[in-house]
Amino acid sequence: MAMLNTKKEYAMERDGKDPLAVFRPRFAVPENTIYMDGNSLGLFSHDAAAEVLRVVDEWKQLGIRGWMEGNPPWFHYSEDTGAMAAKIVGASEDEVVLTGATTTNLHALCGSFFAPQGAKRKILADELTFPSDIYALGGLLKSRGLDPETDLVLTRSKDGKTLDEDDIVRLMTPETALVLLPSVLYRSGQLLDIAGLTEEAHKRDIPIGFDCSHSAGVVEHRFDDWDVDFAFWCSYKYMNGGPGATALLYVNRRNFGVAPALPGWFGYNKERQFDMDLSFEPSGNAGAWQISTPTLFSSAGVRGALKVTLEAGISQIRQKSLELTEYMMYLIEEELIKPGYGFGIATPREANRRGGHVALTHVKEAVRVNEALKKRGIIPDFRTPDIIRLAPVPLYCTFEDVWNVVMATKDIMDTGEYLRFSDKRQTVA
Ligand SMILES: *Cc1c(COP(=O)(O)O)cnc(C)c1O
Repeated sequence: MAMLNTKKEYAMERDGKDPLAVFRPRFAVPENTIYMDGNSLGLFSHDAAAEVLRVVDEWKQLGIRGWMEGNPPWFHYSEDTGAMAAKIVGASEDEVVLTGATTTNLHALCGSFFAPQGAKRKILADELTFPSDIYALGGLLKSRGLDPETDLVLTRSKDGKTLDEDDIVRLMTPETALVLLPSVLYRSGQLLDIAGLTEEAHKRDIPIGFDCSHSAGVVEHRFDDWDVDFAFWCSYKYMNGGPGATALLYVNRRNFGVAPALPGWFGYNKERQFDMDLSFEPSGNAGAWQISTPTLFSSAGVRGALKVTLEAGISQIRQKSLELTEYMMYLIEEELIKPGYGFGIATPREANRRGGHVALTHVKEAVRVNEALKKRGIIPDFRTPDIIRLAPVPLYCTFEDVWNVVMATKDIMDTGEYLRFSDKRQTVA
């Protein structure tokens, strides 16, 4: 974009023309804070809180009658909210359900789609993915009497930051029984080519699923068009559902007949769930992958916040996200990537290869720069070994925020302010 420039007035001008600016008051931005950590925990959403309080009040007013008389009935709350969420991931209504937690859903889904047969018994993942996913896949293999040392194949990264899709495809062999990949890498922010990888997996008859925790709510997905087999994601990052909020999962309708690996009574055919029959009859849609009674209070925040995302529109959100990250990377290049500064950008520059955050690297002082930013009321986060993640979230961040963050970072370097902080990272960075 030729017309970008480094003056503050320019940022303010962009904010003045921003169609999503109206959504910022729908969130509580802590006082004197520039919040760049919505990729880790989305900010308090007034709509989320209102829905939580509404459901709490239903409990107060209705007691057990809430299961059928709530609005929507609690009995259908997970499916009903899943149907809303389907719109932001390009799925039909019965392919998405609000349930469980991210890693639990990984177990439930990967366990169902992993059907090792003879030599075809390996799971393909990557070495940059979120560690929980690797722990879970290792456990899954062991539970089937297999050995993660040989049967969990991890695609290696050449630069320690990004993955090459061709390397992943090369590892899809006749021995691969399942592929699980992240949509967006949690450190560098690289967005993988979900459509292309799915096509390659299917050419080889391998089921493929995606962990979309780092993309849901900020990147557009078209799961049905891309024909992915399954996906799951958390709701407390760009979806603003609140800390530890209930997660979501997607199952392609082609796979509705697959037997859930961790069956539970809430995955039962809803019409007959209360017959209490001892033989499991799955619901015949994504709802079959539920296990337990819905966690209503943790679900309500997701539903409330989802209304904001739907109102704003996921394509408008993605558009603004790309503009904010483009602008941020431009400013970083202009102001911070200079001899003697030690900064770099680990995030791919191409719009179709990046998610919602920018990974600013520093050769030596990422921890201290991160701490110095926090001291100034700017909230990024540090990820080992050298990354400061900056997520300008479209629903509540501004171009001026981006400008302030980059200029503050420059000032922290110029004045040596970072030297006043410890280089030991905190427990929760
Ligand atoms: C945040 C995140 C998770 C979180 O897992 P939980 O089970 O919700 O704690 C999992 N995978 C990825 C890629 C994430 O970014």
